[in-house]
Parts: sequence; structure tokens; C-alpha cells
Amino acid sequence: MVEAARILQRCDALARHSELEGGLTRVYLSPEHRAVCALVLGWMREAGMQAELDAIGNVVGRYEGSRPGLPCLMLGSHLDTVRDAGKYDGMLGVIGAIECVASLNSRKKRLPFAIEVIGFGDEEGVRFGTTLLGSRAVAGSFDKQVLEMKDSSGIALADALREFGLDPARIPQVARKKHAVLAYAELHIEQGPVLEAEGLPVGIVTAINGFSRLRVALRGQAGHAGTVPMHLRRDALAAAAECVLAVEMIAKKHPELVSTVGRIEAKPGAINVIPGEVTFTVDVRAPKDALRSDAVRAILAEIKSISGRRKIEAKVEPLQEFGVTACAPWLMQRLERAVAARELPVRRLPSGAGHDGMAISAIADIAMLFVRCKGGISHSPLESITADDAAIGAGVLLHFIENFETNAVPA
Ligand SMILES: [Zn+2]
Repeated sequence: MVEAARILQRCDALARHSELEGGLTRVYLSPEHRAVCALVLGWMREAGMQAELDAIGNVVGRYEGSRPGLPCLMLGSHLDTVRDAGKYDGMLGVIGAIECVASLNSRKKRLPFAIEVIGFGDEEGVRFGTTLLGSRAVAGSFDKQVLEMKDSSGIALADALREFGLDPARIPQVARKKHAVLAYAELHIEQGPVLEAEGLPVGIVTAINGFSRLRVALRGQAGHAGTVPMHLRRDALAAAAECVLAVEMIAKKHPELVSTVGRIEAKPGAINVIPGEVTFTVDVRAPKDALRSDAVRAILAEIKSISGRRKIEAKVEPLQEFGVTACAPWLMQRLERAVAARELPVRRLPSGAGHDGMAISAIADIAMLFVRCKGGISHSPLESITADDAAIGAGVLLHFIENFETNAVPA
């Protein structure tokens, strides 16, 4: 029904477009991004879709239903990657969805709704430091101010879009009307170890965990590492070290909570100088919004108390926040039927990672199907899935599509 070998071959083909030699890094609106857009557009057309690039750089393919212009079932995932990434995070969802449409097209099957497959241009947010640009444009929640944001070489998003041949003034037209999208479903690798541990090829996502991101700046007093006695120091890095451990400790108090200090920078950064300034980031995630906001509050209180005790000036800047995005129970049920139809056990699990569905949920109910990945590893060249699991994932998605009933969509 779906060609498993072709799914993996196409993931390999996309992975060859990378700025990182011998690995995979493909950021939004890069020459490598342009190359994969061309490939994906070709595959979409080959599968019987009308396909084009939209104004934010998403590849959009449309397979009409029994008559043209019907509301669509939206499928997809993203085509950008993190640095030194794996080949399947994002790409599996785009290629798997194209494979489903190719199967319908080969049987000349038309459904009572259209199918749209989107390869979102930016989900990871690597280049401009803000995530979900592609899906936010589709959901109508694109913030025009983001156009001014600059990448590390000082190029503004608006200019990068123009350089790519796109017109930023047309971004509002990318937004879909609610009634035009019946639902959104995304196939994605799990990026965690649960399915592998339980010997299951696929799982149904219940919700995408919410996250809060902070930037913390600590200012103490730089000084000579040899001459300033310990009791007279205001060492910003030693204070940060306490803060990092506090961030870890707070998350350890609750099994559903995770928090990470992923980046830290100390200035001036010399072996013989007491660090005077430190900045670090905090990322907190949880499947419940209250749990997350309590954790953030506890972290802020700890930072305040540590810096107060050490006579360090602390500034905390909130960077980004997203609440929990629940997957729609009626869509989960339909995915469960599709899983059960293959005589596989139904496993529900939350997503610890963020996905395009977080943005799309503003215009449509969402569902996600996870595919087992080796060792639960993602965002790494070690990311790996089997052809069998890819085939099961795409097969379940195809079953879901073919049994989707437009009259089940809540008004
Ligand atoms: Zn992803």
C-alpha cells in the first residue's frame, strides 16, 4: 500500500542537502532548504498533487477531493533541521504523507475532502531563534515583528525571504480559515525511548507538552583570581552553578517535569579572572500548564535567593512560552482504530518535544502518530528508524485518511 523503501530513500535524498559536510544541518531559507523544496515539490506533483511554495517558504501540496475546492484534511511536518541533525525528525511526516497521497492517486481514489500536505519551512527555529514560523503563518498567528529578527550574520528574516524569492507582504495570505481545515494529522518520530522499550512500532500522542524558556543574566564582580580573597568575591559563575543545580532539583521533584540549562556563557572567560557576568538559558516543560508555571515560579525564587545571598544582580527575561496542546480525542480514537486494524496494541503517550501542531491547533483539531526510533535518539546523526516501522506509520496514517469522515468534525 505504501512503499517503505521509498520513504527511507527519500529521507536519505533530503539529508544530502546539508550545509554541514558529513552530517545534516539545514536551516530555514538556506540554499539547502531551497534544494529540498524543489525535491518535495516534484514528489508531490508525481503523487498527483498541485504543489507550490507559499510566501513563508512552506511547500504545500493539494490533492483535491471528489470535487475541487473542498475543505482539507491537513497533513505534514517540517523540512528544517537542528544543527548536526538526524534524517527523520520532520522529514518522515512530510514524506510519509506524500506516500499516502501517492497510494490514493495510484488507485485514482478521491475522498469527500481534499488533502493538503505541508512541508513547513521553519519549525526548529535554529536560524532566527524563534520556532514554528511556517506553521504559525498557516495558522494566522504569524507576528509581523518577527520579520525584523536577524540571524547570526545580521540578515533580517524579511530580507532572507526576499532573497529566497518570496514576498513578506504576502504572508497574511498564507493563513487558513478555520472551516477550510477539517483536522491536522502529523506523523513524527517519537524522539524518546518509550515505544522501543515496550516493543511497539507506533504510538498515539495525547498532548504536546507546554514549555517556558528564560534567559538569566547574573552580574557579579570580575577580579583577579589570585588577589581577591574568597569571602570578598562576587563570582557570577559560582552563583550560576548553584542556579543550574536548583533548576535540576526542582524538575526532579515531579516525574512529569523536565528542565534544562542548555547554554551558559561566562565573561570575561579567562583562567585567571573571577567571572563577573554570566548568562544562561532555562527550558522547562510539562504536560500540565499549572505544573510548569509552578516550576518556573520556584526557579525564579531560587535564582532570587541564590543571587541575593551572593550579592549578585540577577535579571530574568522570559523568551518564549507555549501552553500544553491537547490532541483531539475524536482524532485519537480514529488513529486508534487505524492502529488496531493492523492488530497492533494501542499505546497513548504525551510528546515531550514541540511540534507544528502547537501552532496549527489554533485553526483545527490536531492528532499525532509517533513512530519508534532507535534508542529514543533524535536531534543527532544517530537518529534511526526501520523501514518496517516507517511503513507501519504511513500505513496507519493512510488508514486514518481513508476512514476519515467529514461529518465527524465538530462544528
Ligand atoms: Zn520535528
